[in-house]
Amino acid sequence: MRQSLVDRRAVLTLALGALLRPATAQPPPLPRMDAVPLAPRCYMVQGQTALGSPANANFVSNAGFVVTDDSVVVIDALGAPALARRLLQLVAGITDKPVRHVLVTHYHADHIYGLQAFKAAGATVIANRRALEYLNSDTARLRLHASREDLAPWVDAETTLVPADRWLDGDATLRIGGVDFELRMLGSAHTPEDMAVYVPGERVLYAGDLVFRARVPFVGQADSRRWIAALDAVLALDARVLVPGHGPPSTDPRQDIVLTRDYLRHLRDVMGRAARELEPFDEAYRKADWSRFEQLALFGAANRMNAYNTYLLMEHERD
Ligand SMILES: [Zn+2]
Repeated sequence: MRQSLVDRRAVLTLALGALLRPATAQPPPLPRMDAVPLAPRCYMVQGQTALGSPANANFVSNAGFVVTDDSVVVIDALGAPALARRLLQLVAGITDKPVRHVLVTHYHADHIYGLQAFKAAGATVIANRRALEYLNSDTARLRLHASREDLAPWVDAETTLVPADRWLDGDATLRIGGVDFELRMLGSAHTPEDMAVYVPGERVLYAGDLVFRARVPFVGQADSRRWIAALDAVLALDARVLVPGHGPPSTDPRQDIVLTRDYLRHLRDVMGRAARELEPFDEAYRKADWSRFEQLALFGAANRMNAYNTYLLMEHERD
């Protein structure tokens, strides 16, 4: 009797010890990742609608993959090497063909920090040459430095910026394992190096961050005037399924492309008028009607900064 009470105490002490152990002792679990089939050859994984954090392992952007007759083509590399390795596992659960190519839609951190895992698996990385300017910039270096702190342990001292093996200078059609990939260079839009990947055989379009779905776009330093023009080019592709850079896939691409376009137009209208009339930003922001967009996810986190960046852009465009 007495013995079993002691045993129970010992078990309790062990359990408490596990609870109180510092969080750094073990990495947190990777968030759930599922392969979503879109067409016979085409799949995606959908990142969370959130800002990157240690809790979500920076799984906040989408990636895609296409199973060809002899290999697998991945579109975008996710925001941490561990996420990329998880994606490789998912691919291996669907086909025994190797991942031979990674197509990078743009070089923002949440889409590229996984690249080294695909390189280690033997893949060739292909991107728009215009990404080199960012890749060689202090901004990219400082961002990685900050991410090693902010996104530890998922992004750490071992995480590196991986350049493409093959830089493209313009639109290209790659034929890989009997499947055509139309690569459209549509920057400068969201970034100078935006590259949309269209699989015409299945009418699936991987649009990268040219299109955001069910959340407020991240505008950053984007050239929103050219971005709007690029969306018209995306519309002309007449895709049946669209995979945005962030958010769920769309089977009504037109409606979703138009939402991103209308949001950018609204920012430019409101902030352009303010910049022309020399109205201070705070006042213009407060007076603006955001009702059409404020129910979108991340409105609180992103809208004000998007508006401010657009205000600065419109002042500059005015000169
Ligand atoms: Zn992104």
